[in-house]
Amino acid sequence: MKKKYVIGIIAIIVLFVGTMVFLFIPPKFKLNKGDTIELKYGETYKESGYKITKFGKDYSKKVKIKKNINLKKLGTYKVTYEVKINGITFKKTRTVKIIDDEKPIITLTGNENISICPNGEYKEEGYTATDNYDGDITKKVKVTTKDNVITYSVKDSSGNQAQITRKISIEDKTVPTITLKGNKTITLYLGNAWTDPGYTATDNCDGNITSNVVKSGSVNINKLGTYKITYTVKDSSGNQTIVERTVKVVSKPTYNSASGKGVIYLTFDDGPKQGTTNIILDILKDEGVKATFFVTNSGPDSLIKREFDEGHTVGLHTASHNYATVYKSVNSYYNDLLQIQNRVKRITGYESKIIRFPGGSSNTISKKYSKGIMSTLTKDVVNKGYHYFDWNISSGDAGETTSPSGVYNNVIKSLSKNRANVILMHDIKTYTKDALRNIIRYGKNNGYTFDKITMSTPMVTHSVNN
Ligand code: ZN
Repeated sequence: MKKKYVIGIIAIIVLFVGTMVFLFIPPKFKLNKGDTIELKYGETYKESGYKITKFGKDYSKKVKIKKNINLKKLGTYKVTYEVKINGITFKKTRTVKIIDDEKPIITLTGNENISICPNGEYKEEGYTATDNYDGDITKKVKVTTKDNVITYSVKDSSGNQAQITRKISIEDKTVPTITLKGNKTITLYLGNAWTDPGYTATDNCDGNITSNVVKSGSVNINKLGTYKITYTVKDSSGNQTIVERTVKVVSKPTYNSASGKGVIYLTFDDGPKQGTTNIILDILKDEGVKATFFVTNSGPDSLIKREFDEGHTVGLHTASHNYATVYKSVNSYYNDLLQIQNRVKRITGYESKIIRFPGGSSNTISKKYSKGIMSTLTKDVVNKGYHYFDWNISSGDAGETTSPSGVYNNVIKSLSKNRANVILMHDIKTYTKDALRNIIRYGKNNGYTFDKITMSTPMVTHSVNN
């Protein structure tokens, strides 16, 4: 009996201990992708799954997950998986690390390879550094220079390091620049004085080196021919530039050379003007005659375009037609001329070099503003490659005559078969446009030919009075 009792107690103890052991043995937590997960900053956390079993029974559905992860902040976080089995709670934690393993980015202002002049000094062109986590870390950049290599390096708060370099070459491989004043090709009449309009030379490293220019070649103004003047300059690194100017010495043409005899050159000043110039163009087209227009800054661009497109010569008169401005000084004259030259070039693409002085080269009004200016200009424009034309027949339409018949009579009474006839008219006058067709008819009926002025037309010039 006593023995049975002992066995009974033992059995109870064994059963009790067995039950306890059964209850307190933890389940198996199987976390997919492991107990520790590393997330790169910027990635999102996604539960990767789990399985909880105890003695073959699946408790996964009973699991409660607790987590507190701040994806915006690097650090180590915990995810807790909790399951209650038979009143007893079991836990398992997963560690989530948010890390930054991305290098910062350094951006250089300017090139990676920089050339500086031998006498120059490198001035930092600037840089910026940004990091995916820290943001702008430009201030943390360390700059060191060794053997003409500049190293920029920076570390972000996670210790990721970026480094770039910039190479400085000390050299000058750029040739100097020689700028010729005046034209590259200058036409000079036999016997006319030759003066070099000048030049300047600049270098990227040395600055103004005009005084180092060596000039060679010469012009014999008493001998027809083409001459070359050579300008050579070297910078301090030995880079050399050579520029050449051509000077052509040609014989002075005279207007009554055989070729121009009996030719009528219709020339129109002071336009264009809507209402007259367009009608003059219509008549010229109708009659198949080419003429020359010495234009100003007035009137619409479209009429200058038409003059050019229809085969007439677009010559340069003056931009302002204001004597006080134009003849104030030589510089002032060229300022005005360039303005009208540029207008014509802008509209037609053609750089006109055929000019007529306001008031003609024989004008005396310029005396009021600058004594002797016409003597200077008449030589200088030719040296600069322009051809200027006065006239040998005045239609009187500038004031003396105000009727179509007056204009007509002035012209036809002065025509001559023994010379070129350069007729001064103004395309801004209504009576001129009304006289034009009769003038052309008269010319045709009396054996004259019509032509426009070109660069090969011999100059017709007055004698200078100032
Ligand atoms: Zn005029």
